[in-house]
Amino acid sequence: MKIFITRPIPQVGAQKLKDKGYEVIVNEAAQDRPATPEELIQGAKGADAILSVLTDKITAEVMDAGSPTLKIIANFAVGFDNVDIAAAKQRNIMVTNTPGVLTNTVAEHTFALLVAIARRVSEADRFSRAGKFHAWGPNMLLGADLTGKTLGIIGLGRIGSRVAYHATRGFDMKVLYNDVKPNPDFEKELGAIFVANIDELLPQCDFISMHVPLLDSTRHLINEERLKKMKPSAYLINTSRGPIVDEKALAAALKNGTIKGAALDVFEFEPEITPELRELDNVILTPHIASGTLETRSKMAELAANNIIEALEGRMPPNLVK
Ligand code: NAD
Repeated sequence: MKIFITRPIPQVGAQKLKDKGYEVIVNEAAQDRPATPEELIQGAKGADAILSVLTDKITAEVMDAGSPTLKIIANFAVGFDNVDIAAAKQRNIMVTNTPGVLTNTVAEHTFALLVAIARRVSEADRFSRAGKFHAWGPNMLLGADLTGKTLGIIGLGRIGSRVAYHATRGFDMKVLYNDVKPNPDFEKELGAIFVANIDELLPQCDFISMHVPLLDSTRHLINEERLKKMKPSAYLINTSRGPIVDEKALAAALKNGTIKGAALDVFEFEPEITPELRELDNVILTPHIASGTLETRSKMAELAANNIIEALEGRMPPNLVK
C-alpha cells in the first residue's frame, strides 16, 4: 500500500502507517507552504490513500490522478471544505476527518482570544514594548468584563458547546445560541438559550463566537447588515473558517465603530489578511493556530492514520464524512 502525505505532520502519524508495512511518501518540500497542485497530482499517482491537510485542495483532478488505486482521503482537520466531497462520492473514494480530538484545544484558543480582545492584551503588550508605560493610569487601556455578559454561539456543535461550557462554568456568562437545530439536553445542562433567528440573537449579545462549518449556507453568514445588528460594544470571535465572515465589511465595522473589536484565527483569503485589519488596534489576528498544540496535532495525525488503516484493511473508518 502506498500512502501520500501532502505536508509534513507529526511523526507519530507516518510511523503508525509505516508500522503497517505501508510505503509512506511525505511531501517534505511543503514544510512552510501549501502543497502545489502539481505536487498533489504527482503524489496521488499510484497512492492507495492521501493524508491531506487543510491548505491542500483535493480536487477531482487530484482524485483522477490517484485512479484506480486511491480509496481514501484522510483529512488532517475537522473541517473538510478543502476536499471536493461530491467528486469523491462520484468516484467512490472515502473521505474522513479528525473530529473530537481537537475540540478542547480549539475551545481554549477561542477563549484565549475572547479574554485577550476584551482585556486588550495584544494592544497592552504592544504599548509596553513601545516604552509607553510611564505611570499607572486610572483610565489607561480600559477593557470590558466577561462575567455576567452574554455570549452568542453560532453553531453549537462539539467546539461551540465546549466554548459555552467555559463561558457558563468559568465566567458566569449567559449563553444564547443559534444552530440549524436546538439541543435541549445542552440547554438543561448549561442553561443556554436557543434563538432560532440569528438576526434576533445578534443584538442581544456582548460577544459572538463563530463555530459553524464552511458551507454554501454559512459563507458570509456575518456580513455588513449583520454587523450592524450587533451592539457597538460587542466583540466578534472567529475560529471556524474565514469566509464565514465578510472580512472587508468587518474591517469597515471595526474602523467606524459599528462593533468594538474582533479576534480572528481564520481569514477569508488565507493566508492573505485584509490589509485594513492589520492596521487596527481593536483586532487580534492569529495565523490559524486554534488546534495548534503538540498534543492535539499528534492526536490528529494518529486519528488520520487510523482512518487510513481501517479503510485499507476493509473496515469502515470511524470518521467517515457523510
Ligand atoms: P460540529 O459539526 O460538531 O459543529 C458545527 C455546528 O454548526 C453543528 O451543530 C451544526 O448543526 C451547526 N451548523 C451548521 N450549519 C449551520 C448554520 N447555517 N447555522 C447555524 N449553525 C449551523 O463541528 P466542530 O467540531 O464543532 O467544528 C466546527 C468548525 O470549526 C469546523 O467545521 C471547522 O471549520 C472549524 N475548526 C477550526 C479550527 C481552527 O484551527 N481554527 C480547528 C478545528 C475546527
